[in-house]
Amino acid sequence: MAEETIFSKIIRREIPADVVYQDELVTAFRDISPKAPTHVLIVPNVLIPTANDVTEAHEHALGRMFTAAAKIARDEGIDENGYRLIVNCNKHGGQEVYHIHMHLLGGEPLGPMLS
Ligand code: C5P
Repeated sequence: MAEETIFSKIIRREIPADVVYQDELVTAFRDISPKAPTHVLIVPNVLIPTANDVTEAHEHALGRMFTAAAKIARDEGIDENGYRLIVNCNKHGGQEVYHIHMHLLGGEPLGPMLS
C-alpha cells in the first residue's frame, strides 16, 4: 500500500489549502510556491503515487483531471492565451510529492519548456 502524502490531508480538508475545485474524483488547489500567476495542482482523490502506477482503473479520474483543468483555466481567464499542464514522474522528472498531480500554469508567457 502506498504511503499517503500531505495531498491526502488536503483532499480530506484536514489541513488548509486554497482549494479551487473539488468533486468526487479530483481536487484542485493553488500551489503554495507558485511558479506563475496561476499555478494550480490537480490531483486525483485516490492515491496514485506516480505516472508509473497508473492503470485502466484510474482512467476515469485521470480524464477528470483534464476536464477540471479546462474548467479552472476558463475560471481563471487564462484559457484563450493558453497555459501549460505538467506531470512530473520520479527523481529525473523532478517529482517531490508522491501523489500524482497535474500542474496547471498560466497567466503569463511561460517560454520554452526545455532550454
Ligand atoms: O511535481 P512536484 O512533485 O515537484 O510538485 C510538487 C508541488 O507541490 C510543488 O510545486 C510544491 O510547491 C507543491 N506543494 C504544495 N503544497 C504542499 C506541498 C507541496 O502546493 N503542502
